[in-house]
Amino acid sequence: MLAHNGKKVLAPVNGVASLTPDQKYFQIKQDGSWSTTSPYHSRNYDFSALLEAFDAGALYSLDLIETPLKDYFQKFNRDSNFKIVLSPFCRYQHLDFEEMILRDMKDAYLSFIELLRSIFPKAEISNFFEVSNLDFEHPNGIPEYFLHKQFQTPVDKTRKSLIGYEVLFLGAETIFHILRKLYYDEPFTKRHLAVFLVDRKGRMDLEPRQFFLTNGQSLAFIPANLDKRYKIASFETVFEEVNPMDVGSLGYFNIYEHCSITLYEKLPASRKEFSCIDCMECNNYCPTNANPVQLIKGKTEEFEKDLCVSCGICTVYCPSGIDIRKRIEGVMV
Ligand code: SF4
Ligand code: SF4
Repeated sequence: MLAHNGKKVLAPVNGVASLTPDQKYFQIKQDGSWSTTSPYHSRNYDFSALLEAFDAGALYSLDLIETPLKDYFQKFNRDSNFKIVLSPFCRYQHLDFEEMILRDMKDAYLSFIELLRSIFPKAEISNFFEVSNLDFEHPNGIPEYFLHKQFQTPVDKTRKSLIGYEVLFLGAETIFHILRKLYYDEPFTKRHLAVFLVDRKGRMDLEPRQFFLTNGQSLAFIPANLDKRYKIASFETVFEEVNPMDVGSLGYFNIYEHCSITLYEKLPASRKEFSCIDCMECNNYCPTNANPVQLIKGKTEEFEKDLCVSCGICTVYCPSGIDIRKRIEGVMV
């Protein structure tokens, strides 16, 4: 196990470790397969044992940016009555982790709820698992948006409640990895990766191919096993700015950064911006009524930046190809 830039790099594979060309990460070229199927163990944890387990398992929040779970849990006052929110959605994944947890890890899930109750006895737990009328739709996986929808609280207030540690937020993918560590002894060394295909007409195959991969594993097997028509790849989703790369240079799987790959048959045409046609689609589709059209009109002060959750929807729907996302980044700094 190696430590680098404050992150632990767990290397439970037979392989050769080296630095990436940009010197930012370790990569492990795997020369064998590694997998475990540990059985469930019922365990009790006190607060310090829980923090130790988070640390030993290199667990990160997969909902919040750059947040190790040990540091995150330590921020909450155990004698105060803050809120704990368990969301069935995840920020980055298209998999139904709620279903996987309830189907395959139910005992661990119930133990974890009890554990939260015992460690934070005054906290109010809002558990949205098993709520039948909740459907995932982007941007439900973004914590401030999920809280806004479920508690009818303005986005700026939900953001403050997250930053101010009034809400401890755990999405389904984060919970999945917590359960694996606490009750199956599996550290955060593996993560799901979805592979999407986009044909030359721009149509996306909606059936994602899912892999459960080990950190540091070479991704060369993906193009090797798919139709050779797909030559271009991107780790970004359609809601983000796409940085296309050659499918042969995917490199190595980084569980902190990679959750999906989109393979394109044809390079997405470079985005050509036309003039705004006042169709108001950006405003109509904005889930928080942040009024993004005003950024295009030059009335920056009328854009409600406190309400924006940077979901990218306005850019995706703009028929003039205007990169509203870029304009938003400009005013958010
Ligand atoms: S302004 Fe755009 S990025 Fe911001 S919340 Fe609305 S749709 Fe999402
Ligand atoms: S969606 Fe694009 S073209 Fe339509 S009003 Fe918004 S910025 Fe203008």
